[in-house]
Amino acid sequence: MSALVDLHRHLDGSLRLATVHEIASDLGLSVPEDLCFTPGMGLMEALSRFEFTLSLLQGPAAVARVADEMCQDAMAEGTQVLEIRFAPQLHRGANISRIVDAALEGIADRAGLILCGLYGEPPSVLDALVDSAEHRRGVVGIDLAGGPAPGAEYGMVDYIPAFKRARSLGIGRTVHAGEGRPVDEIRFAVDHLYAQRIGHGVPLLDDEALVERVIERGITIEACPTSNWQTGIIETVADHPIRSWIARGVSVNINTDNTLLSQVDLPAEIARTAAQCGLSPLEIEYTLDCGRRAAFGRE
Ligand SMILES: [Zn+2]
Repeated sequence: MSALVDLHRHLDGSLRLATVHEIASDLGLSVPEDLCFTPGMGLMEALSRFEFTLSLLQGPAAVARVADEMCQDAMAEGTQVLEIRFAPQLHRGANISRIVDAALEGIADRAGLILCGLYGEPPSVLDALVDSAEHRRGVVGIDLAGGPAPGAEYGMVDYIPAFKRARSLGIGRTVHAGEGRPVDEIRFAVDHLYAQRIGHGVPLLDDEALVERVIERGITIEACPTSNWQTGIIETVADHPIRSWIARGVSVNINTDNTLLSQVDLPAEIARTAAQCGLSPLEIEYTLDCGRRAAFGRE
């Protein structure tokens, strides 16, 4: 198999278990027994599991350490192309710039860094992330992550200016869309947020015209089958639509989402997806090739 590619791996969900215990003990915190995801738990419950890991990562030193360890772990498993993402505004031990710099120090040019805005946040946060990305070449993209909460004051429409500015600055754009929500969200990300990649995108095939636009524009879907199974979006990994996407010619790659919380590494995720979705070695090569082409880079 050629070099592995993971474009969707969250820093705050991909700590080493030993590091979790070490930092928790330094901070006098006890590690919850239900630290990791379990199948069918639901997205909101899954998102709540980040509270603990985030509590360990408030300061720049912990962020740099975990970013470094993620790069080491990726290399050890054979993942040569890696993009790490996180929401620096959730790490309150320093300002956004200092936290982003800490992640970049930890990465030391071994991975791209994506900054995540979160559904429901004021658009000024997304603007600040684009500001932060503008002069840091190691930041390769921005993202919209989490999930829309009912009655939230801000929604996707409010983030258009930030994504538009990212595009004009040559910063990559990816959006968590269709993660247990209707296809409209994917359509909005593609048509209005200039998304080059979509995280999850599970209901894509519900909109035929959109499938055609996605193929035409070479938009890549970052598939995370184990994560989707755990959050209850699909009942089993075998229900993931990746095989149909490949058959249609959609650009798609396979990603871990969270190595700790989902208890996967990339070789395991690829093997599970191949076995359960019936993907041939050639189809796996196709996904790796899609991933390599879709990796963000800055001029
Ligand atoms: Zn994600």
